[in-house]
Amino acid sequence: MEMSSKLLENAVAEISQLPGIGKRTALRLALHLLKQPTEHTQHLAEALKKMREEIKFCKQCHNISDTDVCELCANPLRDKTLICVVEDVRDVMAIENTGLFRGLYHVLGGKISPIDGIGPSQLTINALVEKVKQGAIKELIFALSSTMEGDTTNFYIYKQIKDCNIITSTIARGIAVGDELEFADEVTLGRSIIQRVPFENSLKSS
Ligand SMILES: [Zn+2]
Repeated sequence: MEMSSKLLENAVAEISQLPGIGKRTALRLALHLLKQPTEHTQHLAEALKKMREEIKFCKQCHNISDTDVCELCANPLRDKTLICVVEDVRDVMAIENTGLFRGLYHVLGGKISPIDGIGPSQLTINALVEKVKQGAIKELIFALSSTMEGDTTNFYIYKQIKDCNIITSTIARGIAVGDELEFADEVTLGRSIIQRVPFENSLKSS
């Protein structure tokens, strides 16, 4: 794309690095910013910079947080013995939106996927297994999407904690195979957490 300004071209190149944003959309956004007051772009740039530099991951659940321990983990009203294992922070948001879960989370940061070069060590699985072995957890709920990678990850974790004398369950499959949690509607997702089933059942059926 031939542009009359190198500055515009640079901005468009940066914006178009974002997922789902092509060169044309990037140009539209850049031109939009040029029409707005200068402060608008300053606020946007500052918000992005601050987010990138200052955001933390909760020491306990690995959720995104502004503090060392996130608001959920710090809340005394949440049930610390019940842990919902999810792939990423979007799943925490989706489940929180249902308003039906009073336990805590453990954010894995992805799923085991050899094709994408993601092994267990790149995820927070060890921290989860350690947490279980410390003995304060009564139940783990696996809430990963029911893809092959999700099932592999569940089973990998299950193998390491199955002798720990805790309940392991998996969210009921009102959610169709391959659906990502974040796209499930709140009612379905809420119901699938309430009607969770023992993890061992999911092993027999597959
Ligand atoms: Zn936390």
